[in-house]
Amino acid sequence: MHMQQGYKGSYQQGFPPPQGGPPPQQVGFPPQQGGFPPPQGGFPPPQGGFSPPQGGQPVVVQNGSPNAIHPEQDGSEAENGPPPDLNQFQTYGGYEQVGGFGQMSAMPPPPPPPPPSGPPPHMEFAHVANLNQDEAREAMLAKVAENCCWGKKAAKDMTIAQIDGSTALHYILETYCEGRSTNYEHVPFHGQFIDGPENGPPPPPWAVEVHPDGMFNNHQKKVEVPHTAVVKPCHTCHATGCIRCRRCGGSGRNTCTRCGGHGRVMHHRDGGNHWGPCHRCHSSGRIRCYTCGGDGRVTCPSCKGHRQLKFYIALTVKFVNHTEDFIMEETDLPDELVRVVKGNLIFEQTMDQVWPVTAYPTKAINDNSIRLVEKHRRCFPSERQLQQRQTIRAIPVTECAYAWKDVNTRFWVYGLDRKVHSPDYPQQCCWGCQIL
Ligand SMILES: [Zn+2]
Ligand SMILES: [Zn+2]
Ligand SMILES: [Zn+2]
Repeated sequence: MHMQQGYKGSYQQGFPPPQGGPPPQQVGFPPQQGGFPPPQGGFPPPQGGFSPPQGGQPVVVQNGSPNAIHPEQDGSEAENGPPPDLNQFQTYGGYEQVGGFGQMSAMPPPPPPPPPSGPPPHMEFAHVANLNQDEAREAMLAKVAENCCWGKKAAKDMTIAQIDGSTALHYILETYCEGRSTNYEHVPFHGQFIDGPENGPPPPPWAVEVHPDGMFNNHQKKVEVPHTAVVKPCHTCHATGCIRCRRCGGSGRNTCTRCGGHGRVMHHRDGGNHWGPCHRCHSSGRIRCYTCGGDGRVTCPSCKGHRQLKFYIALTVKFVNHTEDFIMEETDLPDELVRVVKGNLIFEQTMDQVWPVTAYPTKAINDNSIRLVEKHRRCFPSERQLQQRQTIRAIPVTECAYAWKDVNTRFWVYGLDRKVHSPDYPQQCCWGCQIL
């Protein structure tokens, strides 16, 4: 097989040649240093960075918010109060599109910086070596040893007629981005500090300082947007702190499961069956509700009994590493096999925005680097690009043509850990065991 792309995409020809002049200063784009359009509501961009108010550490969230309870989730909305109308909340510049409870709304990012221009930085590429016949046979024997059903006689006795070393190339482009979205959330109010609009206008979504935990690492963080918190009575329990127990419907008692509510059960005694009293419910047919302890009410799941809620705008920042690659593999080995094996790193570059590789001796690598870099420049308009990394790996591939008995076929040894691809090895499965 020849070239294979690890993804589908349109081929963008015509990457603009680098402009003359020195390479531009590497422009980082930290969120707080301006360069963003003023928010639609007319607040100027803040001067300094804003930190989240809760001890400065954003909360890393896997699924949803750690403590906010959405009425949709606690299931009590129908029976209890609906969430408040968003119209009764103050609107803030930059947050006109904030999502409602449980509904995240994406915040469009600031315009991206211009692509890098000038001559690309110097790029140096390493070289790789291939296997000889003994090493190839050893790799085949190791593969046979891994497969308990494969006979090793063929591997030992095969005649390796021809051995061809080649190098597969694996180009990888990673573009590390962040996307931001907002929604209203609430948590119980128990007297904690409230950072409300009286402290000033909230920073626009892209000016709130949230940093990733390491680059090229997919994860998500959620923070409270400063100056957006307000306290309101709990809508779920109408500020009473409890809601009716749904298990017993508020009665505090449930039907006895032992007697099914009859108060009597069948006793087996003296070889016969006799109806007798149900000891579990003392013949009443009803037992105290375990959920509410007989009270008929349970603590409100929204306010946890505090009767008031703190409402605020939550900002969710999603860090995503977009990865695409290109494999150039010239033998009949299935190309995708080289993606996951160890190879030699022959080039790696990490920058805010990379220059495409244009000086590698293999044209297909250059062409595809240009194509992917160009594609990634347009591909993620709703995200802000933080960093890019491009890598070229070389994976040794050795094709061995061999004969054993009347079989003439091939196998391939690939990767630094010498994986073997041998789809038609003559002694596979139990058939191999039988002829040994
Ligand atoms: Zn109950
Ligand atoms: Zn009973
Ligand atoms: Zn409540």
